[in-house]
Amino acid sequence: MNKQQIVILGAGYGGLMTALHLQKKLKHHHTDITLVNKHDYHYQTTWLHETAAGTIHHDQTRIPLDEVIDKRRVHLVIDTVKAIQPDEKKVKLANSELTYDILVIALGFETATFGITGLKENAFMISTLNKARLLRQHLSYNFAQYHNEKKKNPARLNIVVGGGGFTGVEFLGELANRIPELCAEYDIDKAKVRVINIEGSPTVLPGFDPDLVEYAMNSLEARGVEFITGALLKECNPDNIVYKKNGMLTQIPTMTTIWAAGVKANPIVEVSGFQTNRGKVEVMEDLRAPGYEDVFVLGDCASIKDPETGQVVAPTAQMAVRQAKVAARNIIKRLKGEEKLEAFVPKTLGTVASLGNDDAIAVILKNWKIFGWKATFMKKMIDNRYLIRLGGWNLLFQKGKFNFFY
Ligand SMILES: Cc1cc2nc3c(=O)[nH]c(=O)nc-3n(C[C@H](O)[C@H](O)[C@H](O)COP(=O)(O)OP(=O)(O)OC[C@H]3O[C@@H](n4cnc5c(N)ncnc54)[C@H](O)[C@@H]3O)c2cc1C
Repeated sequence: MNKQQIVILGAGYGGLMTALHLQKKLKHHHTDITLVNKHDYHYQTTWLHETAAGTIHHDQTRIPLDEVIDKRRVHLVIDTVKAIQPDEKKVKLANSELTYDILVIALGFETATFGITGLKENAFMISTLNKARLLRQHLSYNFAQYHNEKKKNPARLNIVVGGGGFTGVEFLGELANRIPELCAEYDIDKAKVRVINIEGSPTVLPGFDPDLVEYAMNSLEARGVEFITGALLKECNPDNIVYKKNGMLTQIPTMTTIWAAGVKANPIVEVSGFQTNRGKVEVMEDLRAPGYEDVFVLGDCASIKDPETGQVVAPTAQMAVRQAKVAARNIIKRLKGEEKLEAFVPKTLGTVASLGNDDAIAVILKNWKIFGWKATFMKKMIDNRYLIRLGGWNLLFQKGKFNFFY
């Protein structure tokens, strides 16, 4: 009897967690599990803002896949997915081709630049480990270069962050804590450094609890962040940006623009023939792609509506991890020939946004608002819990966050 081929694309939150559940549950089953990923490591996207600002080392953010995968049960293929052919049940990789009986697509997101002039070419993104490392290096380079030029260039010390959603705000928090360190390292007067956030809505974190938004803005302003709200970034050049507010265009000299205002699903899903909405597969309640009973789509590649509110659920790591558990259970049901699969219920336990290593805001258990050290403690506990789920106490002690209250 031929072994059933389960192929998982992407070793991020959704894909890696699915592989880990299956390697535990399918010990004695007649299956082959293959996990495909671009790199031989998993990186924690939710820590990339810290890597990018330089407040943690990139090795804390990444986890070698062979430290968490049991290679006797899961074949690891380090390669790049180029195309999915769901009608032929094939996946084309850069260096080979795979066939599958059951496919899990968890290829994550890419940054969306909405056609803004020069953004794709000149802005930094916080979307992958390599991009985060590049930004950290670029920040240090500009501070180092400042005193090496006869004519002092303020564009080296002006840092513009486009977008005040969760990624933008979390990065601002880290940056606000990193700037004093960079100033001390390169003998720069902190008063010469500007960190500017440009956000289209009247406040940052639109839609989040207004009291906590005010807390976040006060916390960041106290550490030197300037907010320009109700403003749209129009142009990004190598040494300046242009934004529009109240019909007026204004230029800011800067060599560092970070775009943190939009993500889209990995474009591979859209070109592979799945039914998509805004680039994401509108999955059925059991997480399968409509029309393809053996294809599950998870995380940022999937669009899921909350049946209670009718709203599309925000793509988060929290959701991807929870989807992975349901997808793994449904894969086992398929292997057993069961027709009725489990529905994914998109409940969140809460939302936490860090404002640096020592401050945070959160709404948990529907309406309980917390901020300061309590929210910071909670955020670090969430991060540590994920490490335990991935690689047990060993991984927690290697990569965990134990500086709970500061
Ligand atoms: C800075 C930042 C902070 C965030 N903070 C939070 C937070 O605090 N809480 C929260 O819940 N969410 C947070 N998010 C959102 C969260 O990170 C995403 O929703 C989550 O990563 C989605 O998981 P995923 O499994 O869909 O994709 P990912 O975790 O992005 O994994 C995708 C994987 O696929 C691989 N891949 C991509 N393309 C290919 C290819 N062609 N071939 C092979 N492999 C490929 C990638 O290398 C990666 O390993 C944050 C996001 C960012 C950017």
